[in-house]
Amino acid sequence: MNTTRTESITEGPAGRFPKITEEVVHRYDVAGPRYTSYPTAPEWVEPPRFGPLNYAAKLSQAGEVDAPLSLYFHIPFCRQMCTYCGCNVIVIQNRHAADEYIGHLAMEMDLAAERLGRRRGVAQLHWGGGTPTFLGSEQIERLWSEITQRFQVLPNAEVSIEIDPVETQPEQLRVLRRLGFNRLSMGVQDFDPKVQATVRRIQTVEQTRAMLDEARSLGFSGINFDLIYGLPHQTPETWSRTIDQVISLRPDRTAVYSFAFVPDARPNQRALPAEALPRGTDKLELFRIAFDAFLDAGYRQVGMDHFALPEDELARAQVERRLTRNFQGYTVKAAGDVVAFGVTGISDVQGAYAQNLKPLRSYYAAVERGSFATVRGIELTPDDQRRRRTISDLMCHFAVDLGPDGTDYFAPELDQLRSLEADGFVRVRGPKVELTPLGHVFVRNVAMLFDSRLRQRQGAGVFSKTV
Ligand code: SF4
Repeated sequence: MNTTRTESITEGPAGRFPKITEEVVHRYDVAGPRYTSYPTAPEWVEPPRFGPLNYAAKLSQAGEVDAPLSLYFHIPFCRQMCTYCGCNVIVIQNRHAADEYIGHLAMEMDLAAERLGRRRGVAQLHWGGGTPTFLGSEQIERLWSEITQRFQVLPNAEVSIEIDPVETQPEQLRVLRRLGFNRLSMGVQDFDPKVQATVRRIQTVEQTRAMLDEARSLGFSGINFDLIYGLPHQTPETWSRTIDQVISLRPDRTAVYSFAFVPDARPNQRALPAEALPRGTDKLELFRIAFDAFLDAGYRQVGMDHFALPEDELARAQVERRLTRNFQGYTVKAAGDVVAFGVTGISDVQGAYAQNLKPLRSYYAAVERGSFATVRGIELTPDDQRRRRTISDLMCHFAVDLGPDGTDYFAPELDQLRSLEADGFVRVRGPKVELTPLGHVFVRNVAMLFDSRLRQRQGAGVFSKTV
């Protein structure tokens, strides 16, 4: 990396997107993790180094703790595969397949509840996917009943679900609200017809507005829209129109994700026209358009890619430093331990990550045997824990205090940070590292310097590009 400050980099006015030169994009647009976990998934190990017994022991340990829990349920089903999708999905048409799945979630919950006991209430509960509203109203009620028979959902818990505005019926929303769901997140991605046709996800502004109005009238709050920039055929003009349409609907918060084009890992993405993908400065320009438009419309930037109205819980959490990052992106920290259920579900319990198997039949067979379906995981070392806190602070607050011994402990990292300081990404004062507005855009690059495992791997080729 060049250690002299590039003269052409200038920060825009406060609260505006910084000016970024092509040369900077060229140098820093490298493959890198998104740090929804640390250590990142390629570092996790398989049984016998970490397997079902390790996970069971962690849950027993968690059962001794008094703090509340967070639960995650993965509902993997979708009716068709979107070409951009990066999630773990099972494409299926028959809704009845979900009955068997719910039965196995209940078995897995039995295994976990046995170890966790009932001491810990649930402060946060999330259904993600896939498409959780693939479940019909009766199935939603059944799964909720299976959960509440085994876990005590606290009265003020944050209970959230991801919905597809095209697939979801108003009746399902009413059932969810009656059961206690109070937050929801909608996939939107882009409203442009050409982009939608290419990614095979057709959803009109009107359908989205109808679902939003319905959700609001039922009393859902913290309503989130997921958007993606970097999809094929997006141009500044089409994307500006999408952003204006989104702002006119005024969701409480939006996540503006950078499209991770990883066709080797996600074969469904091979159907995308690679030549039509905006890249480098063209892609960054799309994020700039969203950034400036949301800030102009009164939203606040939360973390690297979320925007929230000032009164929204996520914006307040950032101000109060209660923001955290997990596998769903940025969230309000409500619980230390996250226990996940279902295929590919990732738990984060007592200093260890554990992920479930992906194939449905193997998952079913494991829980029928009375075993967890853990396929890989990792127990964090004290060094991992310290780096995880550091990276989390950078990603959530754009600043970190490395602590009284930080300048010694992280001496190599601070040395490497000098080049980023020279390029105008960070300000370093003793153990305190603060990102500039330019550094906010490249926060993944800054975080990578604190990722000692990445250095040992000598390569981040498995990850998407940082821009
Ligand atoms: S609806 Fe969502 S989870 Fe399902 S295939 Fe499309 S992008 Fe993936």
